[in-house]
Amino acid sequence: MEIKALQAKAVEIRMELLRMIHRAKTGHTGGSLSNTDILTALYYRVMNIDPQNPKSEDRDRFVLSKGHSVESLWAILADRGFFPKEELATFSQFGTKLIGHPNNKVPGVEMNTGALGHGLAVAVGIALASKRDGKGYRAFCLMGDGEQAEGSVWEAAMAGAHYKLDNLVGIIDRNRLQISGTTEDVMGLEPLEDKWAAFGWHVVSVDGNDIAQLVEALEAAPAVAGKPTLIMASTVKGKGVSFAEHVPHWHHHVPSDEELEKALAELSAKLAAYQQEGPVSQL
Ligand SMILES: [Mg+2]
Repeated sequence: MEIKALQAKAVEIRMELLRMIHRAKTGHTGGSLSNTDILTALYYRVMNIDPQNPKSEDRDRFVLSKGHSVESLWAILADRGFFPKEELATFSQFGTKLIGHPNNKVPGVEMNTGALGHGLAVAVGIALASKRDGKGYRAFCLMGDGEQAEGSVWEAAMAGAHYKLDNLVGIIDRNRLQISGTTEDVMGLEPLEDKWAAFGWHVVSVDGNDIAQLVEALEAAPAVAGKPTLIMASTVKGKGVSFAEHVPHWHHHVPSDEELEKALAELSAKLAAYQQEGPVSQL
């Protein structure tokens, strides 16, 4: 998918996830809006995946280590055809597969996540298995910035560099907020890029809500042979909804009827603007 189509798709995904959260009356709104562009770039352009054959041996693997921000992932997996879109209406309802965190009963999900700090270690194992089996598939892992306070992230970072896993890409959704405030107030992380570089990773910094920059960085990996890549994706929590942006309270705030209507109006206007620029091609 071309860049403009990806941008338009990300707006549609944001609208879908807001409807899901509003309907279910639960969800992680801010983080899902924050990571939507990253997931859109991965699932519609970068990763080698086949929704009709989700267990294909040669597929690229994705681990959403910040598992709470799952609504964008559910909307994307449904839209890509991993499961019927109608199932999105069951999000967070009793008996659904689409619970509030990724779980591997859902086609396209590699790993149950939600307990923070575990995803990267598994992605390291996946990338190592790919190398040892002589396969070409890659492992992508999206982490939160609040998650960087988990010690297990850094054990995995060491292992990724030690095993020279240049088929491994870690991405940090660097929105500078976590559930209880700013990351720098809760547990200072800076200089975060220097820390990853010191752990032996090739570090690339991008605007994580700019799909063109994300695609360029993701498609360039591995830019350095023998090193895993860390993409520091500077994002805005609540991105795309003016009154949710940068507001910690929207971490798991459920939009009211009025807020939903306002948010959808803003996003519809953005979508219309993309469409006015010319036809938006699909996959
Ligand atoms: Mg965060």
